[in-house]
Amino acid sequence: MSPVALTFDDGPHPQWTPAVLDALAEASVTATFFIQGDRLLARPGLARATVAEGHSVQAHCDRHRSHHQLSKAEITADLDRLLHAMRTAGLPRPSFWRPPYGDIAAPRSQEVAAGHGLRLVTWTVESCDWARDSAAAIFSELLAERRPATRLEPDSIILMHDSVGAHTAELVHLLAAEIRNRGWTCGPISRAARTPERPFNACQPSSGG
Ligand SMILES: [Zn+2]
Repeated sequence: MSPVALTFDDGPHPQWTPAVLDALAEASVTATFFIQGDRLLARPGLARATVAEGHSVQAHCDRHRSHHQLSKAEITADLDRLLHAMRTAGLPRPSFWRPPYGDIAAPRSQEVAAGHGLRLVTWTVESCDWARDSAAAIFSELLAERRPATRLEPDSIILMHDSVGAHTAELVHLLAAEIRNRGWTCGPISRAARTPERPFNACQPSSGG
């Protein structure tokens, strides 16, 4: 059984990545960060610090574009730019790749991943933190299972973003406590993780409900 994987996309961000790292340290849990190459070039030390704190740093993209808009050659070029940036920054070689929007279903995405020895991964729980500004509201949506892709399970992969605001760090506290109360553990994403090929990816701005 895989642990619950808390995952964060689109960093490193100068303000929100440190806030998430602090929250993870306070909760004594490790997590996975899917990083973006152009942001890594601006903050390589932040990504190295993330690894030094025991977290897993994995591949997201160089420029943030859906594979639906890209040819196989363009997908390959984007990934190669990211991998080069990660090498240059002194980061470990990634083993997982979560492309933007979780768009992994196209055969060309699968082919590029296989050619680079990367396992494609999406998520089972979408926090919608980029479309919300309240950790409490997100947390209650998850517990109520009010949207698709909200069911917390012992091996959930939970999508968040270390790039959108202070509420994501607050959400880490709430989730880590809930997971602990249920007797489950958190950890870096594992090879055994089950991952949908077409994840929920349609967050609407909160209606206030
Ligand atoms: Zn992203």
